[in-house]
Amino acid sequence: MAKEDYRGIWVFAEQQNGKLNDTVLEILAKAQELKAHTGEDISAVLLGKDVRPLAETLFAYGADKVILAEHDALASYSARPYEAAMTQLAEKHKPSIILYGATSLGRDLAPRLMVSLKTGLTADAIDLGFDQDDVFYQTTPAYGGSILAHIVILEARPQMATVRPMMFEPIQPRAGASGEIVAETVSVEPDADYEVLETAPKQDTGDAIEGAQVIVAGGRGIKEETDLETLRELASLLDGKLAASRPLVDNGWLNHDKQIGQSGATVKPRYIFNIAISGSVQYQVGMQNADCIISVNHTKGAPIFDISHYGAVADYRSVIPALVEEIKRRKA
Ligand SMILES: Cc1cc2nc3c(=O)[nH]c(=O)nc-3n(C[C@H](O)[C@H](O)[C@H](O)COP(=O)(O)OP(=O)(O)OC[C@H]3O[C@@H](n4cnc5c(N)ncnc54)[C@H](O)[C@@H]3O)c2cc1C
Repeated sequence: MAKEDYRGIWVFAEQQNGKLNDTVLEILAKAQELKAHTGEDISAVLLGKDVRPLAETLFAYGADKVILAEHDALASYSARPYEAAMTQLAEKHKPSIILYGATSLGRDLAPRLMVSLKTGLTADAIDLGFDQDDVFYQTTPAYGGSILAHIVILEARPQMATVRPMMFEPIQPRAGASGEIVAETVSVEPDADYEVLETAPKQDTGDAIEGAQVIVAGGRGIKEETDLETLRELASLLDGKLAASRPLVDNGWLNHDKQIGQSGATVKPRYIFNIAISGSVQYQVGMQNADCIISVNHTKGAPIFDISHYGAVADYRSVIPALVEEIKRRKA
């Protein structure tokens, strides 16, 4: 079949326990731009059980159609039944693009589809677009982050990518929006190799950096573990959270869930303070969409200053304690 015969932009509508993952709405927003270029419809592909009510949200946030497959074996995520269902749907409808959130579920499912559909997959895209030859590309850091590569899937279809969370802003919900629900029957069986015995919500310790409005992040330039306490104090005075670039996680000063970047979390706070962080591409992809970026680094040419709104070329050991004292004074 010719690649021109594949049409439609699909967004995998990841849901768990009847709640859509935030990435779905973010990718639907980007899909509007892709649609404006190609004129192809946007379909959200919704798998699960008793999930039909989610279609309303998907229409509100930009889906033209919802392709719905409900089945007992799809009630909670299980790799093989989900792979089988998505493969059947893609082989039937032949979309030209399928996008997944780069979540743990999306990162598990998408490579399976790459194999079953014998197509290409770009992992962890941070942007999507069309080049001057109208070829769909996915942007991703490559070669250790030294370049931002435009990956294209020239011949195979569908063209697939997982997309990092928080890269795009969801559109304003369209009140009263509706669309076509295409209810499909898929032939899937529960995975005989394992079963879900119990599910429990993740404990909220209250210090997750995703969703924080203010973040104070420390980097390799932090000399002593005890200096982190001053950063933590600054974060707490600003109702924020403490985070780090990778070296501080690698040396065990903070847990991995506090790491920002390509192999850590993506954050989009209102304010982020980068303290003694140089600004590698791998770090930047995790925080570059923050509203206001403030950096302290004693090296004038540090790349972090290129993306900062405010910067201080200074030793953090003089700036941060002074900032803490000033905030305390003003709060007193
Ligand atoms: C596949 C891959 C994935 C990766 N994933 C991630 C990731 O998710 N997150 C991540 O962060 N990194 C990641 N990295 C590592 C990344 O390439 C960088 O090595 C790392 O981001 C550097 O961290 P840094 O800026 O804290 O350290 P450095 O680059 O060493 O920068 C330290 C900075 O501190 C400044 N400094 C030193 N002393 C002071 C002082 N007293 N006062 C003020 N400033 C001072 C220096 O001028 C320097 O700019 C990844 C790498 C690879 C290959």
